[in-house]
Amino acid sequence: MEAGDIEKGSGQRRRSRRRNKSNAEKKDEKKDVLTHAVAVPSPRLSWRKFNALKELEERYKEFVVEFVEYGFKRGVTGQVSLRKALYSELRGRYPDLPSHYVYTAAQDAATRVKSFMALKREGKAKTEKPEIRRISIWLDDRLWKPEGYTAIRVSTHRGRITIPLWPTKQFWKHLNGGWRLKSQPRLKLDEKRRAVYVYFVFEKVVEERPAKGIIAVDLNENNVAVKAGGRVYILETGIRDITLGYHSRREVMQSLKGNRYTSRALKKNELNKKSDIRRKAANFVVREAERLGAAIAVENLPKEVPKNMISRVDDPVLRDRIYKAGFRSMLREIIRKARERGIPVVKVNPRRTSSTCPRCGGGLARGSAPRLLRCPHCGREWGRDVAAVINTERRALEEGRVPPGPMPDDPTPEVSWIPMKAWARRKSLGITA
Ligand SMILES: [Zn+2]
Repeated sequence: MEAGDIEKGSGQRRRSRRRNKSNAEKKDEKKDVLTHAVAVPSPRLSWRKFNALKELEERYKEFVVEFVEYGFKRGVTGQVSLRKALYSELRGRYPDLPSHYVYTAAQDAATRVKSFMALKREGKAKTEKPEIRRISIWLDDRLWKPEGYTAIRVSTHRGRITIPLWPTKQFWKHLNGGWRLKSQPRLKLDEKRRAVYVYFVFEKVVEERPAKGIIAVDLNENNVAVKAGGRVYILETGIRDITLGYHSRREVMQSLKGNRYTSRALKKNELNKKSDIRRKAANFVVREAERLGAAIAVENLPKEVPKNMISRVDDPVLRDRIYKAGFRSMLREIIRKARERGIPVVKVNPRRTSSTCPRCGGGLARGSAPRLLRCPHCGREWGRDVAAVINTERRALEEGRVPPGPMPDDPTPEVSWIPMKAWARRKSLGITA
């Protein structure tokens, strides 16, 4: 398993703000509880162990299915109510199975029913009732024990089973990086490899530090615009050129017979290259904010829109929204990294950020070049990305969470264009707040 695969498992996190009531001075300090799930694979297991785990999975799944059906039919979403309703029946069915599997199955089912109902309320449910396809066995502290860091012992209906592990880089990184291991891992069986993945949940409390200033960021197809102090830096990413380049190469490949594999490999290569650049740019922005002690201002991007809707959309405002939704993964990366370091993130309303004049607030019209816009009211011409990043900064300052620095009368900033080779190698922009 590669590091990239593990990252996928770390999608879950929740945010909560705790206030320290005992200390009046600290009452405005925000605390963020981050949770990451990290997958750790086992080596290939013996048939005896794997079959026992397979039976365990079947029984656990049966419990979850019954809890979900019961909960959905009666609108019960509390794990305690679910457990009370079916405990004795399920407990009696497999007397050899440790009773806590009924507990964790009820927890698992309660979250499934809750999220299905939420989807249904939003009209996004794809099925009539919740369906259980993917299953992982939830463990609690009565059902498993660690054996050092390289094995766990799991209670099953066939006694305790030791599962050796291959701890990954991500696992050690969390363990040594101040993260706390929570006591409820999950087991996922991998039938092809006759192995399991253990999803460990790590938790970290991060204190959001107060911001001294602001770094505004605007994500574009071919660049990331960053405004810090009185300057705008356009970090070129060349992502559009990658898309175009690979597209034409794929067309050539497809015209030759039997090259479907090459074509697919190219597509994968293209995606890797793009996500690599996005990650680098996200890192760069966060590092810069950390160095300056600043908050990060970003547009609150719209949710993904189904692709088949896009072709029929003529409304330019909606098209713009849809287009911007493509940057969500990069935005998520920036927010995730910022939160891990306690850097405040201010999300602003993205409405018309790239079509409002930063100087007079008027609506911008087409300018003298493709990405230039002109203000018919005050006559000023703006780069589209420059206008967007200035407006993003202004909106973040208007929210009042960050003390504003000196605001010049004329908002025209100095703009530097930085090619990718240059910023990817540089440690920082070298600016001072
Ligand atoms: Zn204007």
